Amino acid sequence: MEDHNRKFKTYGRRDIDRIPQLSRLSAEELLTMKAVSAVLPFRVNNYVVEDLIDWSDVPNDPIYQLTFPQEQMLDAGDLARIRDLIHEGKEEPLIQEEARRIQEKLNPHPAGQVDLNVPMSKGERLPGIQHKYRETVLFFPSQGQTCHAYCTYCFRWAQFVGLDDLKFAAREAAGLVEYLQNHRQVTDVLITGGDPLVMKTSVLRRYIEPLLHPSLDHVQNIRIGSKAPAYWPYRFLTDRDAEDLLRLFSEVRAAGKQLALMAHISHPRELAPTVAETAIRRVIDAGATVRCQSPLIRHVNDNSMAWAEMWRNQVRLGAVPYYMFVERDTGAKNYFEVPLARAWKIFRRAYRQTSGLCRTVRGPSMSAAPGKVLIEGITRVGGEEVFVLKFAQGRDPSWVDHIFFAKYDPKATWLSDLRPALGEREFFFEREMRQMRRLLAPSSSSSPPDSSFG
Ligand SMILES: *Cc1c(COP(=O)(O)O)cnc(C)c1O
Ligand code: SF4
Repeated sequence: MEDHNRKFKTYGRRDIDRIPQLSRLSAEELLTMKAVSAVLPFRVNNYVVEDLIDWSDVPNDPIYQLTFPQEQMLDAGDLARIRDLIHEGKEEPLIQEEARRIQEKLNPHPAGQVDLNVPMSKGERLPGIQHKYRETVLFFPSQGQTCHAYCTYCFRWAQFVGLDDLKFAAREAAGLVEYLQNHRQVTDVLITGGDPLVMKTSVLRRYIEPLLHPSLDHVQNIRIGSKAPAYWPYRFLTDRDAEDLLRLFSEVRAAGKQLALMAHISHPRELAPTVAETAIRRVIDAGATVRCQSPLIRHVNDNSMAWAEMWRNQVRLGAVPYYMFVERDTGAKNYFEVPLARAWKIFRRAYRQTSGLCRTVRGPSMSAAPGKVLIEGITRVGGEEVFVLKFAQGRDPSWVDHIFFAKYDPKATWLSDLRPALGEREFFFEREMRQMRRLLAPSSSSSPPDSSFG
């Protein structure tokens, strides 16, 4: 129901006993939940708990799976050890120590994020900036490194549990502006996090206004990656500075640029409430555009009906379906992963049952170290069954749109599982990728060669 004065209230791992809806769980189940949330980030809010989750369908409910820790997310031995520590009432530092040990095993920094994408200036890393694809710079404002709720599958989980020693977080916008002034080929700035819309509008403004300056006229699109339309639509409706946020979006448009809200929408239910629809409409009415993307996640959205329904509703609201991602190789990956072959089948089945307006979506896409690799199809070439793959984005722009083939493998879940087909010895990009690694990350040359793409 619409609630015009809804106050934002969050629950973290220490509040598990205070979430009334969890009283249906047994003491054992609650202990397990506490154990998993000591390792993987946990945060929900009152809107997610009260309006999005169907508690009569727990634990299978997709939004419950999206936000609440599940037993099978950890290895059974790891889970048992941390459960015991909590059960025995051990002190927090001991629990944390065990949690760290488990976290380190969960590949906290996938796809060369740290080594390859952080630009250098005068021999120093530029904090808060990642620049992988020529046209688009990622910016991580220091105050936007949390979210209205956490997704259990988030590939940025390491920064929420304090495991990210690099902290992709900028102290201020000045470094970003200087970087952009020196990189005139950049057309897009993608402000990301966490969720930048956890910031007050007055803070967000400090990052966005400088980008509107005439000296940055090559920056045409300002994108904000956010899950607020799903997790807290009141951000655009009734929060104290909601109107000011929409005004800021209008100012971007008035300056001749596009403000694109890159909305993370994982399940059709997230767009069903009237408040969510209204949020999307208000953003568009303010002169911004909305593009929607999400990973494909087992237990959450691994069926074609969910995707077709999402895309249709996005288009109906004036939003644009953008990417379906493959879940990255990090965190509770084993729990969520969907084989590439199955991902492609789900994509295709959903794609076929929508109108052309929905077919702006691309996927399934793997954000791997060399680039965004699309699974275009599964077919036979010269009697050999193959995956047809294509770069949607490449670390080397000349790779973009290049078609290549991998041996069909029904179990493969990531690019690193794939092998070249048709008698090739390696993929066409691997040689250059090795050179880039040597140039960009000499310090990581000690890592094993077969981790050369991930
Ligand atoms: C996905 C991504 C982008 C944006 O790519 P688009 O295809 O333009 O949406 C930019 N930088 C990185 C590192 C990315 O993973
Ligand atoms: S909203 Fe985005 S950044 Fe936040 S937890 Fe979910 S996937 Fe991660």
